[in-house]
Amino acid sequence: MNKGVLVVISGFSGAGKGTVIRELLKKYQNYALSVSVTTRDPRPGEIDGKHYFFRTKEEFQELIQKDELVEYAEYVENYYGTPRAYVEEQLEKGKDVILEIEIQGAMKVKEKNPEALFIFVTPPSMEELKRRLIGRGTESMEVINSRLLKAREEAQWMEHYDYLAINDTVEECVECMHQIIQSEHSRMSRNQEFIDKIRKE
Ligand code: 5GP
Repeated sequence: MNKGVLVVISGFSGAGKGTVIRELLKKYQNYALSVSVTTRDPRPGEIDGKHYFFRTKEEFQELIQKDELVEYAEYVENYYGTPRAYVEEQLEKGKDVILEIEIQGAMKVKEKNPEALFIFVTPPSMEELKRRLIGRGTESMEVINSRLLKAREEAQWMEHYDYLAINDTVEECVECMHQIIQSEHSRMSRNQEFIDKIRKE
């Protein structure tokens, strides 16, 4: 059985990545979502172990020291990281593993895992992004403004990703993402065993 595809999804905070990924997982079976560790406080309704593993800075440092994270990054004054064990186990099982992570972390994954698939999610416009961030109603205006400034910075990195997914409607974006990931399974370099077999035959 082929290994799963490691899928790295980034995009501006408020682009709706979370919703799109949630729907993708609901609709299709072969995906596994990596739950990250973070030092930020839970938002209302967020559950430890489901949305994130919420940990102290000291606990986070320990994970770094034990090399238990695939990557980690500091984002708006908090740390975020991807636990290694789950990712490796699911890829081995043939699951496509989704990492929803910011750009610094994504670029670290790219250095170590050049075969991973990189998708960047944006809303159709910056105006729409601002509307969505305000509509979410969970952050202060100060935090929203810092996330908008961050988006301006992040836009510089878009070409480092393989694919663009514009989140206009969730349904379309889910389909777009699913097709991108499924096509990746047909990439020649992922099918060396089959190539060898058919040559022999
Ligand atoms: P939020 O605080 O809005 O949940 O997430 C802030 C940012 O951190 C988002 O861009 C999100 O994709 C990113 N993020 C979440 N988990 C990880 C992780 O494990 N590693 C990295 N590098 N970024 C993450």
